Amino acid sequence: MLAMIPFVFIRFFQHDYPVAFLNLTSAILTGSSFFVVLITKKTEMAKISLSIVCFILAITTTILKGWHQIIWVYPVLTLFFAVLKPTRALQVSIVLIISISFLIYTKVSNLYVLGFIVSATATMIFAFAFTSQMHSQSDILKDLVIKDPLTGIANRRAFEEDMKKYSEQMKNGTMQSAAMVMLDIDYFKKINDDFGHSVGDLLLREFAMAIIAKIRKKDSLYRLGGEEFVVLLPHTDSKEAFIIAEGLRIEIENTDWSDPKLFITVSLGVAECIAGQNVWGWFERADKAMYKAKKEGRNKSIQCNEIKKSIEQ
Ligand code: GH3
Ligand code: MG
Ligand code: MG
Repeated sequence: MLAMIPFVFIRFFQHDYPVAFLNLTSAILTGSSFFVVLITKKTEMAKISLSIVCFILAITTTILKGWHQIIWVYPVLTLFFAVLKPTRALQVSIVLIISISFLIYTKVSNLYVLGFIVSATATMIFAFAFTSQMHSQSDILKDLVIKDPLTGIANRRAFEEDMKKYSEQMKNGTMQSAAMVMLDIDYFKKINDDFGHSVGDLLLREFAMAIIAKIRKKDSLYRLGGEEFVVLLPHTDSKEAFIIAEGLRIEIENTDWSDPKLFITVSLGVAECIAGQNVWGWFERADKAMYKAKKEGRNKSIQCNEIKKSIEQ
């Protein structure tokens, strides 16, 4: 788009002011979008505005400069697919092809219009097929990176990212409180020893589903590894988080698993995020509280009282 600047000068010296102005406006809008992305690191608005600018440009140059400007429709179509979601790009492309066809059909032969429709549609279909496949492959890859393969819930990597995000929001004041509940199934090794690894695997899946069914919509469950899980609770203080942890503990104790021989309990550690503290400090406090629950006999929730201490100091 910035390559349009030479055309601004060419059109200007040819005294073709409307097109020079159009090219200049497009170059300015594109340049501004680039700086907005650079500053905000958010690309969504820039992608939409770039598509709108290109759409308007393709239509207006055809109106101002004549039917032979339709050669610009092809790069514009590919740009839609490069920056928008495939289905949205398909919709915008269809509107553009129809609009351009209407604009040129009184000026060129029917055969030429038909040729334009067929070639532009073919470009659109190829771009759609290619980008749809690319998007579905990237969705699969994203899932592999952030999902635990056994239970299908979020994994440790996703947990670390979200923990850092919440901690950052606490620091900049956009979140007033956040807590985490660490969960470790009691004597899980014995389940594997007594009933076999596959029964253990199935139980881990059912455990994850039971927790998800019990937590609130805004909370998220992650598998840290083995039989260790963690729940992140945004906009929640440690008092409320402790009540939630106790609810989870009682739920697990009373759940009827698909194998009626199974009975499990869980030990939980609760810690609230302290604004400005290192995220690993938050994680460590929840972990310590959970180990205290283990030491104190298991099937228990312990709340880290370090916040109380830091408030008292
Ligand atoms: P504690 O109450 O102290 O937590 O005892 P525990 O037996 O639960 O803890 P320990 O750390 O000794 O053992 C954890 C067990 O979890 C060991 C391992 O066999 C089992 N485990 C870890 N990952 C998996 C898994 O993916 N599938 C199955 N079936 N078992 C797993
Ligand atoms: Mg355990
Ligand atoms: Mg463990």
